[in-house]
Amino acid sequence: MSIETPTRTDAGLTTVAHFVGGRRIADTGGRRGPVFNPATGRRTGEVVLASAEFVRASARAAQAAQRGWRDTALGKRQQVMFRLREIISSRADELARIITAEHGKTVDDALGEVARGLENVEFCTSLMHHLKGDYSEQVAGGVDVHQVRQPVGVVACITPFNFPAMVPLWMVTTAIAAGNAVILKPSERDPSAAVWLAEAFAEAGLPAGILNVVHGDKEAVDAILDDPIIRAVSFVGSTPIARYIYARAAANGKRVQALGGAKNHMVVMPDADLDAAADAAVSAAYGSAGERCMAVSVVVAVGEVAGPLVDKVAERIAGLTVGDGFDPTSDMGPLITQDALDRVTSFVAGAAAEGARVVVDGRERQFDGEGFFIGPSLVDGVTPGMRVYDEEIFGPVLSVVRVPGFDEAVALINANPYANGTAVFTRDGKTARQFEYDIEVGMVGINVPIPVPIGAFSFGGWKDSLFGDTHMYGPEAFSFYTRRKVVTTRWPDPSESQISLGFPTH
Ligand code: NAD
Repeated sequence: MSIETPTRTDAGLTTVAHFVGGRRIADTGGRRGPVFNPATGRRTGEVVLASAEFVRASARAAQAAQRGWRDTALGKRQQVMFRLREIISSRADELARIITAEHGKTVDDALGEVARGLENVEFCTSLMHHLKGDYSEQVAGGVDVHQVRQPVGVVACITPFNFPAMVPLWMVTTAIAAGNAVILKPSERDPSAAVWLAEAFAEAGLPAGILNVVHGDKEAVDAILDDPIIRAVSFVGSTPIARYIYARAAANGKRVQALGGAKNHMVVMPDADLDAAADAAVSAAYGSAGERCMAVSVVVAVGEVAGPLVDKVAERIAGLTVGDGFDPTSDMGPLITQDALDRVTSFVAGAAAEGARVVVDGRERQFDGEGFFIGPSLVDGVTPGMRVYDEEIFGPVLSVVRVPGFDEAVALINANPYANGTAVFTRDGKTARQFEYDIEVGMVGINVPIPVPIGAFSFGGWKDSLFGDTHMYGPEAFSFYTRRKVVTTRWPDPSESQISLGFPTH
């Protein structure tokens, strides 16, 4: 792959360029945004921010390229996916390091993200199967019906900071496999992974103009939402923005799927293996510093488990190392920005004032330098109505809500407006089945704390965690990125032609 040396400005900052029409475009004469290394707190680069005009020009370039890609034989599209798989898997470490440099998560965690993103490429290597249509013979005398799937055209993918490679791969891989051209608008906070991916697609043989990376902020997003050339929008991010994207894009007649934030509850039943549950809670709450949409942020302790469970979680927290993501001894890295750090700090500070008990206070950990670090926090005695419970924190803060029984645990979760993921820890099959049956959440784990579906299923929450109808990646993505066309066919015998004004029936 010909990765160009990133442009360096006079101040020694790296410039992250757009990638449109198969080439990097760094100089558009417009605004730029800062990019930080969260582990040092230092500004390491700047990202070009697209004007509305640049977005519109990119969409037109994508539209011009899309026809040729649509005409490309399915077998050739599959070969791109096979080559892409080899490129990403053989250079996963390089991509992981780009993620760590801008996001802050540990390299090990970034490698996990790349592996989960790669599942989507692997799923799309069988795109020929997923794009098959249907056929019904003899629906009336001599009449057959078939249905085909055609690409929607140009689609936009707008992604969050917390998975700068995986979430783009959730979206663009299937969109491209289905014959569309893509405008990918990654998070402006860690934009480089998206450019790396676009160059990997190009090396895999994807024609220029099919995957375009356009960096930007609200101005670029609004231009996407209003451009009639863009026929569908996939979004992942926070709930207020997801709601906005859904409303504005849908009002403009686009197909939209907008995934929002989360508040994921993990129920621990009295019969659960408490050591296994404590391990799971710590892994799922503090991995990636809690900056995962499927992170566990609330443990629902049923009956008498709360006391011993809180002790076990606190013991494990004491053993976690927080540091630079490039340091192999770090379990957890910094938060993404100073703003994120201030926000998370405010939740821990506010919890005690609201009547909760701060068992482990992450603010007490000492760190050298200016990185955006905070230690893991554990807050017991949390109840609905407290800010620490009601809002998505998106940081390493685990709340414990104590409830008397299973029914109260289910009622608590079902009353929450978020409904992305949830889990139950129990040894009892009947309890687990009842939980699965009653719970109003999109993705459920039974003794699995982060139940992110594998690439052959689709990913999505319910309620305020998803606006729209279709989930991401997997089979539902092939539905989202294609339009169905139904064709009714008769090859009549000319001698039997006759006029009939009646409504056609069989
Ligand atoms: P965010 O909503 O701030 O940003 C997401 C995208 O929207 C970015 O590309 C950003 O540039 C753009 N954006 C931000 N503000 C905008 C505005 N006012 N108008 C138009 N566009 C705007 O989210 P984030 O902080 O990057 O990511 C974290 C959030 O994403 C969390 O809430 C997390 O739960 C959520 N998330 C959800 C899932 C899921 O699958 N449901 C997955 C990952 C992250």
